[in-house]
Amino acid sequence: MSEVYKKLEKVVSKEFLSNDIYVRHAYSRNVDLVLQGVPDIIIRPIDAKEISEILKIANEENIAVIPRGAGICEFGGSKPIGDGGIVLDMKRMNNIINLDEDNLITTVEAGISWGKLNEYLCRFGLYTGCMGPGSGMSASVGGGISHHSVGGGGCAKYGACTNQLISLEVVLPTGEIIETGSQANKYSKLPFNRFGNGPDLAGLFCGDNGIFGVKTKISLQVFPKPEFAEYKTFLMPRKSAVTAAQIMNEIRQKGIDVYDAMFIPDVVVAIGSDQGFFPLWEHLKRRRGMFFYTIEANSEVELNENVKKLDDMILNKKSENLGPEISDGNIAK
Ligand SMILES: Cc1cc2nc3c(=O)[nH]c(=O)nc-3n(C[C@H](O)[C@H](O)[C@H](O)COP(=O)(O)OP(=O)(O)OC[C@H]3O[C@@H](n4cnc5c(N)ncnc54)[C@H](O)[C@@H]3O)c2cc1C
Repeated sequence: MSEVYKKLEKVVSKEFLSNDIYVRHAYSRNVDLVLQGVPDIIIRPIDAKEISEILKIANEENIAVIPRGAGICEFGGSKPIGDGGIVLDMKRMNNIINLDEDNLITTVEAGISWGKLNEYLCRFGLYTGCMGPGSGMSASVGGGISHHSVGGGGCAKYGACTNQLISLEVVLPTGEIIETGSQANKYSKLPFNRFGNGPDLAGLFCGDNGIFGVKTKISLQVFPKPEFAEYKTFLMPRKSAVTAAQIMNEIRQKGIDVYDAMFIPDVVVAIGSDQGFFPLWEHLKRRRGMFFYTIEANSEVELNENVKKLDDMILNKKSENLGPEISDGNIAK
């Protein structure tokens, strides 16, 4: 492996390359903590060119390369399976490259977190719509696209984070750098469209867990954040899974454009509150299923109208509103 290390030293400077035993062990774990194997080398590239060189070397030497965003994958994706390999830490590539305010498209480096990106966008009254996964304050945009992430807020309205994808720059395992969508056309100055250039090449890399290539640049649609919003949380009757499913269906059938809606079943609320996962609900005497929603609107009238429809629907099912404040247990807020 030292031969490979020497070759990699020519690609990145020493401070961004390591085969130190402590570093290798640190990168052998994700958030899930299961030890699957210890990598031989950790490398922290700065751009697609460096990644291309790294992949060419790994390809020549037949060594596994594991891209890693924030390492918050719970399923072992961003660490080696078995000993060996190179972990490619994407966290140095965390810049916003462009915000096209006319076309509402942003282009970022793949290692940026959803949290950092949205903190930037909110200065312009914008957001990514789907805020990535629940772990989005630190999870990377590249990790989200590689996982088809969904659940960090906004998915009822905007879909999974890959729905907003416009184009990708990807380094293939051979080291070739390609672009997808409108950017596959060399005459296109700015990304504007994912579809229309033949098959949806970007789709091939969505949910691929990094196996088909390393995403380096990502363009996403962004949206104006509506000015008005309401957040409510309801304690449901006992064994309310079917009731919650009925509410979800009714929301869709009535065409109410909720930003987010979620149900947490009785057993999860009960155990989670005992174990300290839901400190907001520790004070509750009755620990049953919880239903919560967020709805946005462009005017107060529109908001009130939709909130009334939702509340009638949910309260009709023998549920109880926990109250407006976070301290009341209003997790949606
Ligand atoms: C508290 C918590 C809440 C979570 N909530 C959700 C949720 O609501 N919804 C959800 O879907 N998931 C959720 N997750 C799982 C996980 O955090 C997400 O899937 C997240 O998108 C992973 O992003 P990451 O940057 O940490 O990726 P990593 O864990 O680093 O990588 C994930 C996969 O993508 C690959 N990869 C990463 N970056 C790149 C890249 N640039 N190019 C190519 N491949 C790459 C890796 O090799 C790996 O296979 C949650 C996890 C935790 C711990």
